[in-house]
Amino acid sequence: MCGKMSEGEFAKRSDSSEEEMSGATVIAQALKTQDVKYMFGVVGIPVTEIAVAAQQLGIRYVGMRNEQAACYAASAVGYLTGRPGVCLVVSGPGLVHALGGMANANMNCWPLIVIGGSSERSQEKMGAFQEFPQVEACRLYSKFSARPSSVEAIPSIIEKAVRSSIYGRPGACYVDIPADFVNLQVNVNSIKYMECCLPSPVSMAETSAVCMAASVIKNAKQPLLIIGKGAAYAHAEEGIRKLVEQCKLPFLPTPMGKGVIPDNHPNCVAAARSKALQFADVIVLFGARLNWILHFGLPPRYQPDVKFIQVDICAEELGNNVRPVVTLLGDINAVTKQLLEQFGKTPWQYPPESNWWKSLREKMKINEAASKMLASKKSLPMNYYTVFYHVQEQLPRDCIIVSEGANTMDIGRTVLQNYLPRHRLDAGTFGTMGVGLGFAIAAAVVAKDRNPVQRVICVEGDSAFGFSGMEVETICRYNLPIVLLVVNNNGIYQGVDRNSWEEMLKFGDATVSVPPMCLLPNAHYEQVMTAFGGKGYFVQTPEELQESLKQSLVDTTKPALINIMIEPQGTRKSQDFHWLTRSSM
Ligand code: ADP
Ligand code: MG
Repeated sequence: MCGKMSEGEFAKRSDSSEEEMSGATVIAQALKTQDVKYMFGVVGIPVTEIAVAAQQLGIRYVGMRNEQAACYAASAVGYLTGRPGVCLVVSGPGLVHALGGMANANMNCWPLIVIGGSSERSQEKMGAFQEFPQVEACRLYSKFSARPSSVEAIPSIIEKAVRSSIYGRPGACYVDIPADFVNLQVNVNSIKYMECCLPSPVSMAETSAVCMAASVIKNAKQPLLIIGKGAAYAHAEEGIRKLVEQCKLPFLPTPMGKGVIPDNHPNCVAAARSKALQFADVIVLFGARLNWILHFGLPPRYQPDVKFIQVDICAEELGNNVRPVVTLLGDINAVTKQLLEQFGKTPWQYPPESNWWKSLREKMKINEAASKMLASKKSLPMNYYTVFYHVQEQLPRDCIIVSEGANTMDIGRTVLQNYLPRHRLDAGTFGTMGVGLGFAIAAAVVAKDRNPVQRVICVEGDSAFGFSGMEVETICRYNLPIVLLVVNNNGIYQGVDRNSWEEMLKFGDATVSVPPMCLLPNAHYEQVMTAFGGKGYFVQTPEELQESLKQSLVDTTKPALINIMIEPQGTRKSQDFHWLTRSSM
């Protein structure tokens, strides 16, 4: 598993005591020894040599067009594989661009290593080229931020960074590499590589807390399990599914918890989300925080006396916003097994004929019918539901779905199904727009190694696509099997059609006459893909969408971008509660 140096390699090196190597090689070897397999970055002074050395040692290097996208990509590797990816950036502005990705990874609790070149130590505080207090700057965005004191100290700092990124609550770590380290030649014998860090230790909940949790669940009248991305990250799918099926409990996935148990499982109550949250009397949280995504666990979205049972690896999380009745501190996978054992002693199941199940099923039927109705609308331009309905029909079961945008992501999430864990990546806890292409690139690179026939479908709003649109060149350069869908409503939240746009321009130039939400009407985003040799489609009807998607999925030799024109003022079906309480859009 771990990329240890073979005995032969060690022997060869220690034979020749004058043999030297560069600081760059030390960094690359230290990363490889910690089982780092993927590096994303933008090269330049002083890190180019690090990327070259990494590649020579067999670490896959993906050159991106902006550090932010590179950092999103590296963080997605951490979530998908459980081992951190590396984001390699140059000093000053390069590092600052990566901060968005670090913040996003840390908020999502995803492991990530950022390696930043920095200015020479001898020029510190002199106004050196791209000088910036990088270690300090990263502290706010990471669990660990440090600069090795010498080239000899690099392996232990990298081991600590990798270990910190995956132990406890996972997160981002920063290692600062002064420019003068990179080309410094050191005697090979002076470097001691740390062994690959051990896998994260598994912690279990207190037995008394497990008993109490089982008893609270057994006494529930309207129970609900919420499955978060922490459960996905913990690989707890087998245990959680057993628990759901054995105890016949309703469950609700969070956006990235989708797929831990397949969305089409009969116990999934996602289509009655608001009702399930509002009327549950006992809720078990498996790796999901009571933040904005879950409306803080507070009324009016929940009963004032709802009993929360929290399962989390982070003690400080327990009790945030709501006082839980039971806290299960530990690894979700291990704690789920403890719960299963407890229920195994005195088997119990929640009655499938209960009123709670009946009312949830009724609500699901009503909501599903409303979505179907919208999807079946034949009018043009298409609406979101029609688009996603046709996309869902053709999606391969095992594809990875990446999604971002406002309505594109929210409505897409309800229609597009996930059947496998860790197969959905989206704007996440931080609500970050611009993550999509980086995530898709990471997913495709990982898939190439694991399951070469797997497809990555990246569903973007037109606004979200714009943040990192030039990464299409990266996609084409590595020929990654990604199908990009740009759901284009000419704007941010909404836009206008070409005629209205021209009408507005009669009142003055666009800076004064066009609403801030508008983007250029009918922008031909597909030409960004054809510019680099991929396939591009501009579609306006369901038939064109079906045909272009079919072709894109069949032709695995080329990436594709389908630019899907929809109603510029299209909205969603009315909701009892808005996703964002204060959103006026
Ligand atoms: P979601 O966005 O799906 O609601 P969150 O990111 O809010 O999920 O919550 C994920 C939670 O999972 C975090 O509080 C994190 O500490 C926790 N977590 C991550 N890995 C594990 C694990 N192996 N065992 C238990 N909890 C974990
Ligand atoms: Mg839009």
